[in-house]
Amino acid sequence: MEKVAALCKRRGFVFPGSEIYGGFANTWDYGPYGAELKRNIKEFWWKTFVRERDDVVGLDAGILMNPKVWEASGHVASFSDPLIDCKKCKERIRGDKLIEENLGIEAAVGKTLKEVTEIIKENKLKCPKCGTSDFTEARSFNLMFKTHQGVVEETSTAVYLRPETAQGIFVNFKNVVQSCRQKIPFGIGQIGKAFRNEIAPGNFTFRTREFEQMEIEYFVSPKDKTEIKQIFDDWKKNCWQWYLDLGINKENLRYREHEKDELSHYSSMTFDIEYKFPFGWGELMGLAYRGDYDLTQHEKFSKEKLEYLDPFTQEKYNPHVIEPSFGADRTVLITLLNAYEEDTVEGEPRTVMHFDPKIAPVKAAIFPLIKKPELIKVAESIYKTLSKKFNVEYDESGAVGKRYRRQDEIGTPYCITVDFDTIEKDNMVTIRDRDTTKQHRIAISEVEKFLEEKLK
Ligand code: ATP
Repeated sequence: MEKVAALCKRRGFVFPGSEIYGGFANTWDYGPYGAELKRNIKEFWWKTFVRERDDVVGLDAGILMNPKVWEASGHVASFSDPLIDCKKCKERIRGDKLIEENLGIEAAVGKTLKEVTEIIKENKLKCPKCGTSDFTEARSFNLMFKTHQGVVEETSTAVYLRPETAQGIFVNFKNVVQSCRQKIPFGIGQIGKAFRNEIAPGNFTFRTREFEQMEIEYFVSPKDKTEIKQIFDDWKKNCWQWYLDLGINKENLRYREHEKDELSHYSSMTFDIEYKFPFGWGELMGLAYRGDYDLTQHEKFSKEKLEYLDPFTQEKYNPHVIEPSFGADRTVLITLLNAYEEDTVEGEPRTVMHFDPKIAPVKAAIFPLIKKPELIKVAESIYKTLSKKFNVEYDESGAVGKRYRRQDEIGTPYCITVDFDTIEKDNMVTIRDRDTTKQHRIAISEVEKFLEEKLK
């Protein structure tokens, strides 16, 4: 992880937040290559789950919502973690995570505050910072960020930064049905920021207080349980396949089914897809069967009917929901970890990022072999043509070998070199493959088609 984090800083993928002010703990900014990578990942998600499916439509709801939304969803009452303080060093710790790290996940899930306190005491669990085992009792800590809307603080309304994008979808269910004439089963997808005042953020970008989610609420008829199970299983397969299509090594992925006492009160079936991070297995996405909990709650609190009228049978019902919920930042993190390799090329060590070409921040780099005006002219012209379609770079500085290494380090799949044969003989360029380091020549007129084919 340290090596990847160092590369991210050095090569402009991820920078520490507010760095010139001494930083701001556990905040991160995506640099030029990180921003491209993240955008490519989100676009690939949107293309797979929204554009290419005729049963899913998109949405872009606000971060600030009527505070009643969070009462209805249950977040005001119960979106909390058990917080304990180390009496010696004052470190604030998530009680359930301390138990999970020491005694395993079964010991940690579904425990009351009293049980968390007792388990920590009985097992004499130690503070990860100072090593003593003297903690306060566990108390409930709500993870929502609260702020004020309005010009005068005293008379303004308290509002929350959304802790998930899902609720923006539920409150727009009726609008989407009425305006887009979607028929059940159908889904609404959304990508956007979410905020949680996490007790223990960390592990680079794995757990932060501001992050991005990519979520779908998929609405189904409650009638046929076999059909619901079938749809749930299809989503399970499709979510898994999406990670494989991103180029993630399947040895590092696994499903984990939630234990009965770990399930949220509204869910009767939840699977996570986890990745084997350097610090252990961690959640990438969750797939939950939420029943009719959300729409029913919003109906109760808003007093608006959120029923669906089946156009064929004329039956009215509250649809049930299957929710695939992905983390965009965790996905970026695993593509970085998955891509990183140190190898040797012609006796020289190199660091290479083996991104799948479709998500690589830079698709190709164009070089003149040496800094001669006649080579530069052709290379610049190829660069200009390709830059209309792809994110490409032009580089003329230093030896070609050095330029290859620079591109390998940011995961550029192809380097295109213009040499004297190009201008004197054949109008062809050399294309060098990042992974095999093999080179071959193709006509300038074929380069665009070649890239298009490889980036599909
Ligand atoms: P965790 O158990 O890791 O706290 P969660 O079960 O609370 O996660 P969900 O509420 O299911 O997470 O959110 C869906 C997805 O959003 C997660 O699978 C994860 O990818 C992402 N996510 C949740 N919390 C964070 C966070 N603090 N930082 C980055 N990504 C997050």
